[in-house]
Amino acid sequence: MRYVTFSDEPTITPDEFFMNEALKEAKLALEADEVPIGAVVVCRGKIIGRGHNLTERLNDVTAHAEMQAFTAAANFLGGKYLKDCTLYVSVEPCVMCAGASYWTQISRIVFGAYDPHRGFMRVNQRITHPKTEIVGGIKENECSMMVKEFFLRKRNKT
Ligand SMILES: [Zn+2]
Repeated sequence: MRYVTFSDEPTITPDEFFMNEALKEAKLALEADEVPIGAVVVCRGKIIGRGHNLTERLNDVTAHAEMQAFTAAANFLGGKYLKDCTLYVSVEPCVMCAGASYWTQISRIVFGAYDPHRGFMRVNQRITHPKTEIVGGIKENECSMMVKEFFLRKRNKT
């Protein structure tokens, strides 16, 4: 693993750097009172697609962060395949998003928090493309705390 050093920041890995970008998207969802999950698609060190959960605003159960980021990245590239790209998402993808990732043929999926309830890993790890490398647990605590706090606040409101 290559390390990137920033003068004003402690040393972080590229995966942590881009997970921070996914977390920025999650914060945008939080501000809009959406379940705070964010995603970015990175191609050769450059962010080519961003997205956060929009299921409430769009009144669309399929408007997950990953779906938004896939669509944005495909629009940027002018093609539907995301070979040589990495998806960074703050929470383990659900079965729907893992299925969508299969069709993109994306090279890597890096996620933050594990989702034992709705995550694809427990259901069937072969939903993703056989060539897709899966990495989980990057900035896991920060990613899971954001979602946990959101639901705690929701519960306390009612
Ligand atoms: Zn999903």
